[in-house]
Parts: sequence; C-alpha cells; structure tokens
Amino acid sequence: MHDTEQGLDPKAKKELFEANKLAKRLRHHVGDAINDFNMIEQGDRIMVCLSGGKDSYAMLDILLGLQKSAPIDFSIVAVNLDQKQPGFPEHVLPTYLTELGIEYRIVEEDTYSIVKRVVEEGKTTCALCSRLRRGILYRVADELGATKIALGHHRDDILQTLFLNMFYGGKLKGMPPKLVSDDGKHMVIRPLAYCREKDIERYAAIKQFPIIPCNLCGSQPNLQRQVIKEMINDWDKRFPGRVETMFRAMQNVVPSHLADTELFDFAGLKTGAVPEAGGDIAFDKEEFRDPQPEGADALRGISILDSRKPSTIVGEQTCGR
Ligand code: SF4
Repeated sequence: MHDTEQGLDPKAKKELFEANKLAKRLRHHVGDAINDFNMIEQGDRIMVCLSGGKDSYAMLDILLGLQKSAPIDFSIVAVNLDQKQPGFPEHVLPTYLTELGIEYRIVEEDTYSIVKRVVEEGKTTCALCSRLRRGILYRVADELGATKIALGHHRDDILQTLFLNMFYGGKLKGMPPKLVSDDGKHMVIRPLAYCREKDIERYAAIKQFPIIPCNLCGSQPNLQRQVIKEMINDWDKRFPGRVETMFRAMQNVVPSHLADTELFDFAGLKTGAVPEAGGDIAFDKEEFRDPQPEGADALRGISILDSRKPSTIVGEQTCGR
C-alpha cells in the first residue's frame, strides 16, 4: 500500500485511501492488543508461527511494521511447521520469507503420517494433530531462544470459541489473548485478538499474500465451529455493531452478576457489605443502547506502541496449522 496518489484515477485513489485506512486500523488493533496485554517487552524474541494462511501472514506483516516504529527493541523469527501433508507447496514460504529478508526456520516433521496411522478411519484427526504440533512448536521455541510464541487467532476465532464453549461445553470460556503453557515454560500471545476476520481477509487480498490452502490434511471442517461462524456472521449483517459489543462483553465481566460460586462468594454475601461493581439491578429494568459498528470508535486513541515507555511496550476452523 503506497501513500502516493499521483497519477491515479478517482477510483484507484479511493481504493488506495480505503486500503491505507484498513492497514491503519489493523495496526492500531494489534498495537492496542499488545499494549493491553503487555504482549511484547523490551528484548523479546518473538517466534511468529506462520502456517501459510491469511491470518498468520497478516500477523507477521503487521508485527514487522510495528517493529520498525516501536520505541523498544524486539526480534522476530518466523517459523513454519511443514507437517508433510500431501500437496503442501514447500517452496512458497521459503521464497516469501527469503524475499522479506527476515530470519526464519522451516521445521519438517511428518505428523501427517503419524496421525493417519494412529487415528481410526473416519475419526477426527485434529486433536492429535494439534497436540503433536504444539509439542514441536514449543521445542522449536526453546531451540530458537524465543521468549514469546505468536499465534494468528483473531477476534472472530475468540468469539466463536466463546460460543462453542457456551453452546456445547457449558462453560463461559473463550480463547485468551495471552497465556502460559501448561508446563509453565512458554508464553503464547495472540496479537490479532482485536482484529476482525473480514478486515484480515481484505488485507491479505490487497497484500497478495501467497496463501497456502488449509484443507491439505483432508480433515473435515469443524461443523460446530462452522455453524457458530455463520450465526455470528448473520448477526453481523443484520445487527451491525453486535460483534464488537459481544467482544467488549468479554472484557467487562461482572462475576457478582453471574452464577459461579467459585468466582464469587455468594454464600458469604452479607447485608451492609460494599456494593458490587455491577450494581444493584434487582428491581431495575435494564436499558441498552444500540451497538456502534466497527469504525465508529476503531481508531480511538493512538497506538500505545508509538507512545509507551520502553519497559512496558510492545505491547478450532482455528486449525492453527
Ligand atoms: S485441520 Fe488442522 S489440526 Fe485438523 S488435522 Fe488438519 S492440519 Fe491438523
């Protein structure tokens, strides 16, 4: 995306304007997520997991851009795990990364054969496949001395996971923008946590990333996730702003107004105690405003990446291949 508008016809000028606006919005969202969750700190070495899908390409591209302007130093190493799925175009990522001129590693591990051998025909392969992948990526992070592992899940993935857990798992649980691995050794970050998938799709098309198809393993798409995705997309069309409001709800949890006795001490509640943050709404009729669609406040504030102190800055398909 170039800033120069010279010699462009009005249509091309408008497209350029929109493309720049989109790039800015994504960059701000990534900067905000990094800051809000303190995802990247001075001296970090970020292992960016690159699958060849639109999300991970966009994540790498945006992080490389932010790296140039951030007032702290951090390094990036891109890693692709070639799981030896049939038809995987091995040359695509090395060519792309070499042209970019950045540090990268292609890890070749034939997990595809293991999964095919171990999992019964007709059974879902994703659980074993992703477990194997996770173990390999953690090992590679150690080998590379990476302090953080960046995954390309976005806001739609997070919301879909929330609804999957609610509808099928009976849990109020999403997908965290930042987490520590079970063994306590690795920090995983999701810098695209605030980015909409439709924005990433447009960005990937404009940037012409050399996308590698995600169905090479032959696994069936996760139907439950597909249903949830369609539901959310339908809401997005019919009620602009609802998706944004739902995501904000994940950042505005009021334990005293849910029903988890582990999270809030209902049994120990006593009169005369300090009022709860969510307020006494026992007799009130709640009033809600219409949600605002994305864009209305998307560019609020300035990315903290450009303004924070060095010590704090930078900062399921969900196959994750
Ligand atoms: S969809 Fe992803 S996680 Fe599932 S088997 Fe294929 S590559 Fe593995």
